[in-house]
Parts: sequence; C-alpha cells; structure tokens
Amino acid sequence: MISETIVVRCMHCSTKNRVALSRMDEGPKCGKCGSSLPDPRLDAPVDITDASFESEVMQSPVPVLVDCWAPWCGPCKTMGPVLDTLASEYRGKVKVAKLNVDENQGAASRFSIMSIPTLLFVKDGQILDTATGALPKQEISGRMDQMLLSE
Ligand SMILES: [Zn+2]
Repeated sequence: MISETIVVRCMHCSTKNRVALSRMDEGPKCGKCGSSLPDPRLDAPVDITDASFESEVMQSPVPVLVDCWAPWCGPCKTMGPVLDTLASEYRGKVKVAKLNVDENQGAASRFSIMSIPTLLFVKDGQILDTATGALPKQEISGRMDQMLLSE
C-alpha cells in the first residue's frame, strides 16, 4: 500500500492540508473550515481510453476538452504543454483529457477523427465544437470559455 501524501491548498481559506493520495477519492475536506478540497490530480490532463470514454467524458459533471493525439504526431507534442497549462488554469471548470488514437480506435472512429491533433469540446454528453490542428492557447481557451457559457 502506497501512502503517498500531497499538500492541497483549500480554495476557501487557503489552509494547506496534507492528504493521502489513497484518500482523494473520498472527497477530503479542509481541516480548518470544512470546505471540500479540490482534487489536484485534475491539475494535469487525464489519460482516457475507449473503455473510460463514456464515464470520463460523456458522463462528466464538468465540460471536457478531449485532445486526440498519437505519439508519432509532431504537432500533438507541441500541444502538450499548452494542454497542461489549460488543465491547471481551468481546474474544476473544464476537465482536460487525452486520448491516444493509436491505442483507442473505437472513439477515433466513433467521432470520425481523420487527422490529429483533434480537439473535442464536450458538454453534457454532447460534442459542442471540434478543432483540428495545433492551435494557439488563446484560441483553445476562447473556445473553452464559449463552451462554459453555452446552455
Ligand atoms: Zn479551508
């Protein structure tokens, strides 16, 4: 059993809480004010697969930005740090997910992904927008904001 702990700053009172990683799934609360602590694992993009697509993306309580990529794709690599930053900036608002289309061709064919990188903007199980090619960060965040605003 790994008992790795992480320090999570409460978004309400800024107290730093030390939480065992194994307990993050239980929805830990701030030791001082009792507010729910943000899940810092959402700071980074989550890797998803054909198997987890439905639960991680289509049934996600928050909107999802899906990055469809492959290891051999140069422009996809360029997008990596951009998506890392966006995942952090939109923590708790938009989940950033990465789908390796080489290993997960089910989702790739389901959404007719012909070229990569392709971004899918998903809210409430609906694909609201797609974008193909390496885009500047402002372009992506603009579309994320639109997704957040849409009903
Ligand atoms: Zn607190």
